[in-house]
Amino acid sequence: MTIGIVGAGQLGQMLALAGYPLGLDFLFFDRSAATPAGRIAPLLAGEFHDEALLSELARRSDVISFDWENASVEALRRAARGTRIAPPLKALAAAQDRLSEKRCFERLSIPTTRFAAVDNRAALARAVQRIGLPGVLKTRRFGYDGKGQCVLRTAADIDRAWELLGGTPLLYEELVAFDYEVSIIGARARSGAIALYPLNRNYHVDGVLRLTLAPWPAPSLARAAQRSLVRLLEHFNYVGVLTIEFFVRGGRLVANEMAPRVHNSGHWTIEGAVTSQFENHVRAISGLPLGDCAPRGHSAMINLIGSMPEARRFLAEPGLHWHDYRKEPRHGRKLGHCTIIETTASRRTARARLLLPRLCPQLALRP
Ligand code: AMP
Repeated sequence: MTIGIVGAGQLGQMLALAGYPLGLDFLFFDRSAATPAGRIAPLLAGEFHDEALLSELARRSDVISFDWENASVEALRRAARGTRIAPPLKALAAAQDRLSEKRCFERLSIPTTRFAAVDNRAALARAVQRIGLPGVLKTRRFGYDGKGQCVLRTAADIDRAWELLGGTPLLYEELVAFDYEVSIIGARARSGAIALYPLNRNYHVDGVLRLTLAPWPAPSLARAAQRSLVRLLEHFNYVGVLTIEFFVRGGRLVANEMAPRVHNSGHWTIEGAVTSQFENHVRAISGLPLGDCAPRGHSAMINLIGSMPEARRFLAEPGLHWHDYRKEPRHGRKLGHCTIIETTASRRTARARLLLPRLCPQLALRP
């Protein structure tokens, strides 16, 4: 069976690495073959709207998936005429537009931030009036890792924010004074069976994920997050891996966004869970039974961003696993990650605290 994947970044590479032992083949589609997945699997290189390449991908694949959230729904819909697509395109379409995403959360009674659609300067002023300050103005589409966002603290910021982002469809939402951030990841099989990972606690710097601790020991939050995820998985008749990111405020979850794909906060599952999120995604979309999501120990995953440290300085650390995506270094770019696995949650946190000054000096874990 061949799995076609639109986007050939590190997520695609990790999907292929998880799928090869199951006897699956992969075919990627990206602008360039010089990509992490292009190095380990065949790749069609071209523009994402290229009809001929899309139909070739469909013809040569038993199922098509995507590792890239901004893949064109229209182009994929055309490709879907030739083959199956998973996850479902209506989940991708909802996740691509922050307004549809928020409405979907509301419809399913998943608590989310207060929000308003903003299409012009007057609508922004009205939204600020109704929702209040501070708030965040975000582009409805193509935002990720905190890009396409502007925080408003006073009424004087309205003009500045409009100048910065005005002209595209926007969303204004309250700035949540959260205690911390978590995410939940799970998979739904073609049979309808669901497998859920434990809760992840996530630490961001400037909107970019830097550290995940999992499992995060907050049983009632984990149950609430899992209930929301199951509601979304069933609503979309979903097949594959789905993620929801939440703020935690006063012991309650507030949904920030969902990702219809494997997620950076689940990279620890490669070594830290019985079955990784990548393997469960390929199992789900190929019609195979899902694997056990139980953790094997207590994991800390640290993202390696901007420049790649020398692996040899870290490989002697007990229980440490290193992942170099072999991407060109660039400011703010995710180039790799490492995971350490410990026997207890407190040892795991202590190890992360010691590693952070060497791997991510911008983040310090308070004792
Ligand atoms: P996003 O691209 O929406 O996931 O935002 C990236 C990060 O920016 C989040 O993980 C938060 O750390 C921060 N952020 C985004 N929206 C809000 C909000 N409404 N209130 C507080 N922080 C936010």
